[in-house]
Amino acid sequence: MLEKNLERVLQTTKRHLERLKTLGLKTVKDLILYFPRDYSDTSEFTKIIEIQTNETVAIKGRIKSLFNITTKFGKKMTRGVFYDDTGFIDVIWFNQPHLTKMLPRNQEIILMGKAKFGFGKLTLTSPSYEIPKKFEETIHSGRIAPVYHETQGISSKWLREKLKPIIDNWLEYFKDYMPEEILDEHDLIELKEAIKNVHFPESDASLLKARERLAFDELFLLQLKVLQKKWFYKNTVSGDIKAMPQTEILKECIKKLPFTLTNAQKRVLMEVIEDLKSTIPMSRLIQGDVGSGKTVIAALAALNMAKNGYQTAVMAPTEILAKQHYQTFIKMLNGFGLNIQFIAGSTTNSQKEDIIRQMKTGTVDIVIGTHALIQEGIGFKKLGLAIIDEQHRFGVKQREILRSFGTPHLLAMTATPIPRTLAITIYGDQDLSVIDEMPPDRQKILTKVVSETKRTQAYRWIDDQIKKGRQTFIICPLIDESDTIEVKSVLQEFDYLAQHVFPDLEVGFLHGKLKQEDKDKIMADFKENKISILVSTSVIEVGIDVPNATIMLIEGSERFGLAQLHQFRGRVGRGEHKSYCFLFTGKLSQEGQARLKAMEMHDSGFKLAEIDLKLRGPGEVFGLKQSGIPDLKMASLTDSVMIEKARRSAEWIISKDPYLKTYEELAAKVAELEKDIYIKD
Ligand code: ADP
Ligand code: MG
Repeated sequence: MLEKNLERVLQTTKRHLERLKTLGLKTVKDLILYFPRDYSDTSEFTKIIEIQTNETVAIKGRIKSLFNITTKFGKKMTRGVFYDDTGFIDVIWFNQPHLTKMLPRNQEIILMGKAKFGFGKLTLTSPSYEIPKKFEETIHSGRIAPVYHETQGISSKWLREKLKPIIDNWLEYFKDYMPEEILDEHDLIELKEAIKNVHFPESDASLLKARERLAFDELFLLQLKVLQKKWFYKNTVSGDIKAMPQTEILKECIKKLPFTLTNAQKRVLMEVIEDLKSTIPMSRLIQGDVGSGKTVIAALAALNMAKNGYQTAVMAPTEILAKQHYQTFIKMLNGFGLNIQFIAGSTTNSQKEDIIRQMKTGTVDIVIGTHALIQEGIGFKKLGLAIIDEQHRFGVKQREILRSFGTPHLLAMTATPIPRTLAITIYGDQDLSVIDEMPPDRQKILTKVVSETKRTQAYRWIDDQIKKGRQTFIICPLIDESDTIEVKSVLQEFDYLAQHVFPDLEVGFLHGKLKQEDKDKIMADFKENKISILVSTSVIEVGIDVPNATIMLIEGSERFGLAQLHQFRGRVGRGEHKSYCFLFTGKLSQEGQARLKAMEMHDSGFKLAEIDLKLRGPGEVFGLKQSGIPDLKMASLTDSVMIEKARRSAEWIISKDPYLKTYEELAAKVAELEKDIYIKD
């Protein structure tokens, strides 16, 4: 019923129907679920005696007189007097002579507008009006009236007029899919009431209850979906991979590390090793700030798998990062008799063939690489563990491909410090391990927003630091338009710095368009301090480790998100020397200023993420499209209280009835959600 086409129920023109389509409104259901973006509240009528100058008011009263005149400048004007039981007020309109016929004289009507002093008197100029139908509630005035996203020809007023009868006639067909127990537990109102009140609320309180119910639904359905997915994976995917903890070997490897593990690292390692024991495939996300030491955990887990006779694949988003992991793994696992290989875009075809052959025959224990790991022709003899670094850089699909090589355990890692409530929504189908402690040897990085007037001074200071042996990163502004422009800006900046600012220093540059071998060469040179200053685009962002680099200078820093700035900053402060982060800016908005101030004040990625979320919202901060989260209309992903409530209720339902067999309507709603989800390729 609700799927009925609007053209069959709305009395309106073809043009209007076309325009509704551009708003995505085709069926009755679409229209009814087109919720207001805001409200205008004129629920209290103002008495004429109380009207203040320049105040927008709604007055209920009657017309005493109304007539058309033509001014001496030839303008058509409608003048009149309006009254209620407290007094009179003058009214004028321009160029609307039809009003003298339109507005009834012996009936209460409502005028809305601003009262101003004119002609020596308080006058209502060009007010809008509503003529209440007898015994019917008003829809535009004298109430909390909905304001919608509009498009040409489709005004809020038009929408209200069309929506009111549609809601009155069709609301009964909306079935409430929410189990009674949940409504009771959270004191939520029924769906019909919520829909009705979100459009035409009777009061502030009823609007609040309506929004609360609809917001809860969005989060609850999302939680049901992710928890159902998690349940399916844990209970229907039969794995046969079982890796017993190789405690002695792990201890030996840990003892050989040049540092001791933090307590958080130990705890997370235990959680992972414990999961690997079970034939139920692990699906775990390690969340830990930049530099919290996630790689060690990954390497130890891989060692544990190898000693149980299983292969491990490690996938990273960039070749530079994959290469670095490869080197870390080789160094850390040296002496344990493992065959570790690297595969990426730059690997030659014959090398690739050889490595893939080794992967298929089982000679390789650990293979580390980029997307090349999930390309056609890839196969494994006995893949036991798939590790994905910087998970947020990949799409769900890529994760699933890696997971399709024989249902391995899955370990994902991210440095994106999402608050827990958000993480259980975005990554709700995974178990979560948080490394919430930094290694003790880390020193604070001094961060400063630098004004343009101090630029020369900053360059001189950097020059001095470099002559003392240190190195510097310089990040060029983020440019949306195209890679080509980005490359150009890096080259320009590089030329300028190399020729005019640091003529006697080695300056290098890095951007995404360079050939892989050139990138590698530059990074290698930088690591070996053959290059003192590296000018780069944001390709430098993830995971690069150069302990001697102590200065991070970021141009156009206001164009980056806080999480990203924090990532950049994490490139320095990795060695024994004091490190610095300088933020140069373009023109700053107030919000921009506040965000960069936060960089100066905080060194915790979690804290910064929280601030960024407040200032910019989750959509901007986390690129929610990529995470598969549909647009939330009513709920906020930062409303932790409601997210927890929705989570608990969803857990309760799934634990009772994971297939939602007894909740047919709920199951249909979840299925509907599935369609909306956008998966990044
Ligand atoms: P991330 O979590 O950002 O991936 P890494 O795993 O790259 O961090 O670790 C960053 C650096 O910290 C590496 O050089 C690593 O060797 C070092 N590291 C890891 N764990 C510890 C620890 N417990 N104490 C001191 N240094 C550590
Ligand atoms: Mg890392």
